Amino acid sequence: MTYTDSFEKGADMGPVCQSCSMPMKKDPGGGGTEADGTHSAKYCSLCYQDGAFVQPDFDAAEMQAFCVEQLQKKGMPRFMAWMFTRSIPRLERWQG
Ligand SMILES: [Zn+2]
Repeated sequence: MTYTDSFEKGADMGPVCQSCSMPMKKDPGGGGTEADGTHSAKYCSLCYQDGAFVQPDFDAAEMQAFCVEQLQKKGMPRFMAWMFTRSIPRLERWQG
């Protein structure tokens, strides 16, 4: 099953990154890292490293635009990339 298949089917993807919505099990780094070197259960390795966000100045809209761009680089049509990232503003990082 590919990255896009799992999204399309709404399959059980397990926990997703609470910053960018990537399924954690798709994270090549196995999750972000805390300052003490342990893995984060909430954030992926692309968003969170050594206890800090990789893009600390992003807001939810900027994160979504960034992810759409990354998915398009992988060959995904723009409208699909947008659909797959539309839940980003509801994730934990962007609340409050
Ligand atoms: Zn992430």
